[in-house]
Amino acid sequence: MIKPILPGATVGVLGSGQLGRMFAIAARRMGYRVHTFSPDEDTPTGQVADMEVKAPYDNLDAVSEFASRVSVVTFEFENVPAPTAEAAASRAPVRPSGSILHTTQQRIREKAFLTRAGLPLTPYREVRSLDGLNRALADLGCPAVLKTAAFGYDGKGQFRIDAPERAEEAWNAIGQQAAVLEAFIDFDREISVVAARGSDGQFVHYGAIENQHSRHILDLSIAPARVSERTARQAVELARCVLEELNVVGVLCVEFFVTRDEDLLINELAPRPHNSGHLTVDACVTSQFEQQLRAVCGLPLGSAAMHRPAAMANLLGDLWASGEPDWRAACSFPDVKLHLYGKLDPRPGRKMGHLTALHHDPEEAYRTVVAARASLTR
Ligand code: AMP
Repeated sequence: MIKPILPGATVGVLGSGQLGRMFAIAARRMGYRVHTFSPDEDTPTGQVADMEVKAPYDNLDAVSEFASRVSVVTFEFENVPAPTAEAAASRAPVRPSGSILHTTQQRIREKAFLTRAGLPLTPYREVRSLDGLNRALADLGCPAVLKTAAFGYDGKGQFRIDAPERAEEAWNAIGQQAAVLEAFIDFDREISVVAARGSDGQFVHYGAIENQHSRHILDLSIAPARVSERTARQAVELARCVLEELNVVGVLCVEFFVTRDEDLLINELAPRPHNSGHLTVDACVTSQFEQQLRAVCGLPLGSAAMHRPAAMANLLGDLWASGEPDWRAACSFPDVKLHLYGKLDPRPGRKMGHLTALHHDPEEAYRTVVAARASLTR
């Protein structure tokens, strides 16, 4: 158990994107103050925080100064460099701990952890040279996916290899750096489990959420996932095991492939609220962001019960191609909620916001959110 950090205190967030923004909204609603730290300004998080500190992550003096003004530090993206997390930890508790960041911010370490813990994951080989890649391809066969060990996010730093002759092209494409080669999984679907763990070991989860990707970026999520009860239960148990093994205090998302035989393979971990959990803001008693706040502040976790099934559609910058989307059209769907992140520059592929639709039938929620998104650009 840790001494609770109560409303009125200040929480610090490393990173300043939409995850920090939704965390800050949850924190401010509960009477906390929020400071955010990142190299940018007028950020999604900064726009709703009490204070926005702009400095590079390797300015460790600035990081220590930031941490000395808050009661606890958390993060909203996992690529916070280890020395930054350490500098923060010298002045305030960092939750989840820097060691969890260390494990999950590099694919080789993350997969080694999952293997040690006896958890099921996609067959893979470490790759450190072109020779090594050729050996790995001979072991795993084609197709396979080469991924940089350092996380690119949203599919960046990945190359699908369909034939062994393309090994050199792939090795060059990812910049000849440490990598993993994964067997390509012809999955039935992808699901995730977003879960929170308190400092006393309390565990809550949102069940299995189904995810559809487009161009390697999450496109749509549906909760509950359209999988058997047994698969959903197994996914939750595997997620529980991950959070316990890592001793997480905070929120963590486990992404899975569901194979055609209904086996579960862990694809990756994110030690923070996750895009697939955005629908919890509108659909659940306690959102994933409030759970993160409660966990890192040492408060009891809230109920993760769902008021109604839900579906979420991401709004990428591409929607702005012919001008401002028609927000009025989306708002004319009474069971759809609009979330925008305050980003000024709608670049293609950039996450600008999302829509959540609620309906007692998840299929109908799915159809509604797709229709609402289509209405934005008609
Ligand atoms: P990642 O960044 O590793 O989560 O990959 C992004 C998306 O690419 C995943 O959600 C899958 O849709 C797809 N993908 C990644 N790795 C594999 C794989 N080994 N087999 C099949 N699809 C994959």
